[in-house]
Amino acid sequence: MVLHYWQRDVWHSPRGIAKRRLAMGKLRDSTIEALQTILGEALLLDPAECLAYSYDNSRHQAQPDAVVLIESIEQLQSVVRICYEHRIPITARGRGTNTTGAALPINGGIVISFERMNQILAIRPGDRVAIVQPGVLNGDLQLALKPFGLFWPPDPTSAAYSSIGGNLACNAGGPRAVKYGATRDNVLAIKAINGRGELLSFGAAVTKSSTGFDLSRLLIGSEGTLALIVEATLKLTPKAHSSRALRALYQDTQSAADAVARLMAQPITPSMLEFMDGQCVQLARDAGVSIPDAGALLMIEIDGDDTFLDKAAFDIEKFAMGNGCISVDIANDVQAREQLWSARKALSPSLRSLASGKINEDVVVPVSNIPALVSGVQVIAQQQALKIVCFGHAGNGNLHINILYEKENSDQALRAKNAMHAVFELTLALGGTLSGEHGIGIAKRDFMHKALDADTLKAMQDIKQVFDPANILNPGKVLP
Ligand SMILES: Cc1cc2nc3c(=O)[nH]c(=O)nc-3n(C[C@H](O)[C@H](O)[C@H](O)COP(=O)(O)OP(=O)(O)OC[C@H]3O[C@@H](n4cnc5c(N)ncnc54)[C@H](O)[C@@H]3O)c2cc1C
Repeated sequence: MVLHYWQRDVWHSPRGIAKRRLAMGKLRDSTIEALQTILGEALLLDPAECLAYSYDNSRHQAQPDAVVLIESIEQLQSVVRICYEHRIPITARGRGTNTTGAALPINGGIVISFERMNQILAIRPGDRVAIVQPGVLNGDLQLALKPFGLFWPPDPTSAAYSSIGGNLACNAGGPRAVKYGATRDNVLAIKAINGRGELLSFGAAVTKSSTGFDLSRLLIGSEGTLALIVEATLKLTPKAHSSRALRALYQDTQSAADAVARLMAQPITPSMLEFMDGQCVQLARDAGVSIPDAGALLMIEIDGDDTFLDKAAFDIEKFAMGNGCISVDIANDVQAREQLWSARKALSPSLRSLASGKINEDVVVPVSNIPALVSGVQVIAQQQALKIVCFGHAGNGNLHINILYEKENSDQALRAKNAMHAVFELTLALGGTLSGEHGIGIAKRDFMHKALDADTLKAMQDIKQVFDPANILNPGKVLP
């Protein structure tokens, strides 16, 4: 049985949800007629059709009253003006792959799906920019850039099926972020429509700018709560000719984390620096990956010119070695490299086979605090009598903490929730923050007051008010 979002206990009481739904405007017949005039068949009202837009990867559900398959900026401005006038909530949707409930229409209203605004408007290799509509898939853009020897650095594992609009709204990242940055570092300009239906343009297709406030960066990571992104000018990077991958095994997490700190302190920035704890190593072994037993593992990649790489790999190997290091292997060809990465790739399927429930949090701490995070997480695992495994982007201090439990067991589900709270407390105590790439949505919204002080949250609320005075853009997300 699918539980509706408001039937779940986790974030809101049913009374709270009902109150908010009443407070927001409803879709009256006259509003529907006005929308139909603008949109025609691009307005979906049939609940069965709308159902497909009631989920995201948080696996919760909230049914929208209508879905708009938006096709142009002008159309969208008209829709937002109507929603502003009638106080109809709007939830932007790329491809619904976010994990935090950010794309769920928890107050009903309209889902704006950007799947039809999926054109690459320009690729200008000389300026190193691509101009895209928000519905373009990250993977499709990367394919289009290949012939130019360029790429757009943000590389979420979901690249093949997540949209650039969603990537921007969540400030998505991936393994390459350690060298090339996450989404926020790779966008030059944005066009977006605010909660009054006004079209705003921030930034330009230039790599230097000192012209006023940098509001593009503000919109990136705002999860559709400030404005609807309708066009983005992306900063492109030349693709490196070649790469080398290394696998380093350690006796324990502390030795691996010390190596991460050594690697980040030397001059060659790895293009990936991924961490797996001992349990992950065992899972990979169980899945048939041929690696020796170890307390922790680092996957390191460097990229650049072939002439530079051999010497660089030697240097990296030197820094990866040290107290507690068991071995460092360099993969010299593609096949050997694939074998190294197979350990990392085998993880997600293996986790799914271990337990029916998984809470995957993507907390971040300063790199030097990775050992304290991982050992603290193991204490929490013991306290709650649950299995918790850690892996992720060590070079950014961004670890995926996977709390495993049996969904059908209510006691385990409660302990998993307690463990999640404890992980957030620990992360904040270590000088870290709640999310490195997945965002806040509704999943972490009620922890924001722990991560940010009251004055800072108030400043964020004030900014929200400026962009969205009627609070119609993704209401109830991000800010408590
Ligand atoms: C298997 C898998 C692996 C993943 N791996 C990673 C990873 O490695 N790194 C990572 O960062 N994330 C990862 N994710 C999470 C997710 O893919 C990203 O957050 C992605 O950026 C979401 O894109 P989307 O198109 O699906 O957006 P959606 O999920 O549809 O929306 C996400 C948010 O963006 C808003 N939004 C969408 N479009 C717009 C727009 N045009 N204007 C304003 N707001 C908008 C929505 O309202 C919502 O708040 C993964 C997800 C899955 C399922």
